Amino acid sequence: MLQIEFELRAEGDELPDAFLDASELEMMFAGTRTSLGDSLRRKFAAVKCGEHGSPPKFTISGAYDRATEQMDLQYHVDTCCQAFLLRVMQILNQRV
Ligand SMILES: [Zn+2]
Repeated sequence: MLQIEFELRAEGDELPDAFLDASELEMMFAGTRTSLGDSLRRKFAAVKCGEHGSPPKFTISGAYDRATEQMDLQYHVDTCCQAFLLRVMQILNQRV
């Protein structure tokens, strides 16, 4: 099983007329975990380093800014070596 960690959080002060309330925000985070997790697992189901046999590890951090109501997602990839990292990045950037 591919290792994927999510660090999703909300930042900033909630607006009086916030577009998403706390439970909707949780639902959006849950949806993000599911859809990104599924898509990564699909892309990387059989991907291992040819030399070391290790799969990549992903950490996805997301900060939802309550003031701008935007979600900023960042992918962090851990691999056993630089060559495999390049391959993982190529796969990550491919459209499905
Ligand atoms: Zn390697």
